[in-house]
Order: sequence, then structure tokens, then C-alpha cells
Amino acid sequence: MKIGIIEKPGVLNIAERDIPKVETSTDVLVKVKRLGICGSDIHIFHGRNPFAVYPRVWGHEIVGEVVETGSAASALVPGTHVVVEPIISCGVCYACRQGRGNVCEQLKVMGVHIDGGCQEYILVPAANIHEVPQSLPWDEVVLLEPFTIGAQACYRGNVRSGDLVLVMGAGTIGLTVATMAKLAGAVVIIIDMVPEKLQYAKSLGVDHTINVKEQDLFDTVREISGGMGANVTVDAVCNKKSFEDAVEITSVAGRVVELSFNELPSDIAPVGIVKKELTIYGSRLQTKRFPVVIDYLKQGKLPLEGFVSKVFPIDQMVQAFDYTDKNNASIRKVLVSFD
Ligand code: MN
Repeated sequence: MKIGIIEKPGVLNIAERDIPKVETSTDVLVKVKRLGICGSDIHIFHGRNPFAVYPRVWGHEIVGEVVETGSAASALVPGTHVVVEPIISCGVCYACRQGRGNVCEQLKVMGVHIDGGCQEYILVPAANIHEVPQSLPWDEVVLLEPFTIGAQACYRGNVRSGDLVLVMGAGTIGLTVATMAKLAGAVVIIIDMVPEKLQYAKSLGVDHTINVKEQDLFDTVREISGGMGANVTVDAVCNKKSFEDAVEITSVAGRVVELSFNELPSDIAPVGIVKKELTIYGSRLQTKRFPVVIDYLKQGKLPLEGFVSKVFPIDQMVQAFDYTDKNNASIRKVLVSFD
């Protein structure tokens, strides 16, 4: 079978490997149908992910069809459409005992620490499989994983109906955060510097957009909120300044949700947190968000129109990465297809 492998930073190849075999009772062999290219895959390609180990079969946004299972997973009959939950946790460390396997001490993310979905067939533990309706197109179900990231940010930030939520960054993740916040009943402001991204956000039903190249972030948010600030601010811009701005613009009793892997320290005075009694949350990957997002998709509540920018066949995987890299300002999700 064909696999797509990042041999080392900057070197992406299509190679051949044997189809994996079902060995344990909980193994599920999945024929991959679509694979989403994530910003994090591009970072791994460029050697910018501190957790990545090379060579690595990339890809964690994985959907496909069940081909064969071990005896304990036989409820998943061949042909079942599934989305793969790409994280594997130990189940015994402190985080796992709190139900937070996404920050497990032994965390393994497919496509990062272990081989991911860019292979025609992938062997996955049954616990990592979620069934999806056959009637839903692959180009939609493959978007479930990115939406779980937005769902996690809102879950961490305890976004409630009526909250004013500020989403910093209208890239793919910012858009999933904004969508999930709207579904929770929040009023949503999204900011960016690219007009096309803000326009698209508006088409998803986001209440306010701010182009921070043209408008002052603080003045505009205060104006919208009658001076209060945002109740929940989600930082999907992820630079030194965005974290500082998030603490500054969040209201009394508010929450800041940080998505950044930035290693640069930000200048934040404790008084800015204490005076307003802010809660600052890290939000990494997701926990138990797949069923939530699958439900929204089934109910047709995810606004997916125009979310997939382009689909490349597996043979054009290198071009797909190149396209994603070069069109960052105008694309949302690029897919690789195994049809
Ligand atoms: Mn992703």
C-alpha cells in the first residue's frame, strides 16, 4: 500500500509498505478515505513541532471504512464509516485518571509521536473509533477532528449562552472555536488581519468581525461590549502579544483559553489576572469531544459550506502540502483523497 511519510524536516515522500494485519482482539483495520492537512502537519514537515519524531507517517484527521476487526471489536462490521480519534493515552497517570487522556504523561498522537493516517490502510484500537452515518459525505466527516479542537476550547473556557466570546484568529481553528461558541449560544467576535478570512467568518454567523490592521482591538471590543470586555477570550493567534492582549481584553470573572505552543514568554503582570479574577486555561487536543461534534454534524448544525478548499489525490500529496503552505491566507481545509 501507499504511505505518505515525512522522512525528516523538509522531506516528504510517497513510499510503499505492507498492509497492516489485525493482531489483537481490539484491532480495527480501516481503509482510509480522506485525510485532512492540518497546520500542525505543515509544522512537522518544516521541523517546527517540538514533539514530532521522524521518520513519520503524517496525518491525524482520518476517516475511512472498517475492513476487518479483532474478535472484541466485531460490532464494527466491515463497511462501517468511521472517524479515528488520533490520541492514545496510558489510562493510569494522573491526567488519565481525571478523564483527561489528552494530556497523558505517555501521550501518543497519531502523525506526531506514532505513525498517522497517510496510509491506504491503518490499524487502530477500537477505543479510537467513532462510527459516523454512511449518508454523510467523506469531505464533511473528515472535518470532525478540527471541530473537536474548537469544541475543546469552548468546553475548557466554560462558554455559556449569552457570553461574549472573543476569538483571536480566523484561521481554521479560530473558525471551529467561533462555530462551537455560536452553537453554545454565545455572542462571538472574531479578529484577524486578512479580510477574506473575516468575510468567511461572517458567513458562518459570527456576530462581529474586527480587522486589527484597521481597527484598534481594545477600543472596538470595549465599544461592542459597552466597556465590559470579552467574557471568554480564545487565543488562536498564538504569539507573545496575543496572550498579553487576551489577558488585557478579558472581562471581570472572565476566562482566557490559550491554544499556543509558543515557547516565548509573554509579559503579563499578575495584577492583571488577580484584579479581574481571571481563569487561564490551556486547551490541548480534545477530550470526549468527538461524540459532541458528531451529534452536531448529524443534526446539520455545523456550517461546512466552503470549509474544504481543495481535495488532492494521494499521488499529489506533495503538491497538496505545497498548496496549503503557499495559500495560508485564503484556504481553510485541504484534503488528501484515497479514492
Ligand atoms: Mn488537526
